[in-house]
Amino acid sequence: MKKKYQLCDLCEQPVKVEGFSLVKPNGVKKFCCEGCLRIFQLLDPEQNSTPENLEKIS
Ligand SMILES: [Zn+2]
Repeated sequence: MKKKYQLCDLCEQPVKVEGFSLVKPNGVKKFCCEGCLRIFQLLDPEQNSTPENLEKIS
């Protein structure tokens, strides 16, 4: 039987490695890699609360 992978919530590649996920109020988001997880966090204002994301872009 073929294993069905969940798709990355950012780039829609199959998620083959567990561990890159975010628990959101409306469900769990899964990502294929740390890069996708971080980009998603940067794009999501609700998750944009860690100090490393507070660099000023101006
Ligand atoms: Zn991805």
